[in-house]
Order: sequence, then C-alpha cells, then structure tokens
Amino acid sequence: MALKRYTEAWVDDVFFSIDATEHLHHETTPFQTIDFYASKTFGRFFTLDGLMMVTERDEFIYHDMISHVPLAVNPAIKKVLIIGGGDGGTAREIARYKHIETIDMVEIDERVVRLCQQYLPITAGMLDKDPRITLYFEDGLAYVKQVAPASYDLILVDSTDPIGPGEGLFTQAFYTHCFKALTDEGILINQHESPFFDVYREAMLKAHKKLKTVFPIHTVYQFHQPIYPSGHWLFGFASKKYHPLQDHQPKTWEAFGLKTRYYNSDLHRGAFALPSYVKDLLDHE
Ligand code: SAM
Repeated sequence: MALKRYTEAWVDDVFFSIDATEHLHHETTPFQTIDFYASKTFGRFFTLDGLMMVTERDEFIYHDMISHVPLAVNPAIKKVLIIGGGDGGTAREIARYKHIETIDMVEIDERVVRLCQQYLPITAGMLDKDPRITLYFEDGLAYVKQVAPASYDLILVDSTDPIGPGEGLFTQAFYTHCFKALTDEGILINQHESPFFDVYREAMLKAHKKLKTVFPIHTVYQFHQPIYPSGHWLFGFASKKYHPLQDHQPKTWEAFGLKTRYYNSDLHRGAFALPSYVKDLLDHE
C-alpha cells in the first residue's frame, strides 16, 4: 500500500513527519479538521487542524503526567473536571483511582470523542463504561463561567493550542472562573505549551503570566513527548494551597498501587527541576 507522509511544520523551517500506512478518516466539524492515521512505529494517531494530538505509542507519557502529579500532591481529590481531553486518555487515568467520585469532562467537539471511541479505544474505550464520568459537549470557558463555586478539587485543562477553539482556555477570564470553581484545596493542571520554539514559548509565557496573577502557587513541570514540537513539553501546576514538592505525598500515592509506565515518585520531583533557560524565562516574565 502506498504510504502517505503526514508532515507537521514545527516552525516554518523545521518539520516532523510520519509515514502513514493508512489515512483512516478525514472530517471537518464546525470547530476543526480531524484526521486519523495508522503507522508502523507510532501506531494509530490523530491530528486536529493538522497538528499532532495523540499517538498510541506515546500517549501514556502525557496522560500519566497530567493525571498522577496532582493526585500525589492531594491524594484526597474526589471531584474532577476535565476541560477538552476528547481522546479520553486523561479520564482513563483519573478513573483508575477508585476513591474519585465524579469525573466531568467538557469537550467542545463531540466528533473528537466519537471518532476516538472508534479509532483509539486505547484512550477512549472506557468513556462510556465508567458511571462516574459525565460528558458535556460545550465550550469549556462557557462551562466554567456558570459552574457553582467550589465544585471541584481538581481541574485538568487538556486542551489544544491557543489558536482556534482552544484560545478561550488560555485567557485570564478562564483561569479566574476555574479559580472560583475550585475548592480551597483546589489544583489546576493545564497543557502549558513548550519553552523551546518561539511560537510555543510565547504561548507558554502568556499562560504563566496570567496564571501567576490568579493563583497563589504557580509553576510548570516538564515531560518528554516525542511527537510534540521539540519533544520538550510542559504542564502548569496552579494551586490555592498545595505546593507540588513541599506537599508531595509519595508514600500515600504509592499505596494506591497503580502501575504506571512513565510517572513515578522520583520523576515527580525531577519534573519540577527546570533547565536554566526555562527558569530564566519564567523569572523574567
Ligand atoms: N493531548 C493533546 C494535545 O495537547 O495536543 C490533545 C488533547 S485533547 C485532543 C484536546 C481537546 O480540546 C480537543 O479534542 C478539542 O476539541 C478540545 N477543545 C479545544 N478547545 C476547547 C474548548 N474551548 N472547550 C472544550 N474543549 C476544547
């Protein structure tokens, strides 16, 4: 079968390509263009507006790091809100904690969820099987605007980049509504872009600047995601009360007995140790 080369411009003169063995699906929704591919090395993967989202091969890295870090800081988290996350990987990891009571997931584009259920059961296969998960198909900003104060212990912003439908999820208004929606013990983790290439660095710094004004505690932590531009990516850790290292509870987390392929207690501490150029960027913001 002829190979179709999927290519993403990381910046205007740097490109990332995968030879797809099959182009499984192509569709344009009112929000974005969705494509699913199959490949030898990364397995199935999907893109939104031509940008890489999730591959079967490396999704565990992103979903481990967005989910387990906050649970190791406040293991008593019970009510979780996921914004975006249509592939289901974040909900899947959160649902592994038996003590979690509710997982509300607000995804703007129902087609992402339905297509991931069809083509990526590794991440989306359990979305309709766990009664604690409720799916809302609406804009995340509109959702947090109307939610009752102190409704959630944890908000996970598993969003696309701040262009297109994801733009509102990087605004001061969004972070302010999230702050109100969180309990006094609340933690927010967000997809925080990357420090390496200019365009992503600008987005990262803007998000940091805004979050810092809303939350008393804000920092970033890093992980290695082979398919994202430069491979070096960040999550933001914003909190009303808990510090990600001073309040880290490795023993309590380890007692949950979850087997993880990327996250562990040593990595938790290491992920917050930032390269000098990233520290400088954040200090100067
Ligand atoms: N982990 C991947 C990444 O960061 O590239 C993908 C995360 S997930 C696929 C991102 C989801 O956010 C998409 O399904 C998209 O439809 C959703 N999304 C974008 N803007 C949104 C908004 N304003 N409200 C709710 N969901 C949104």
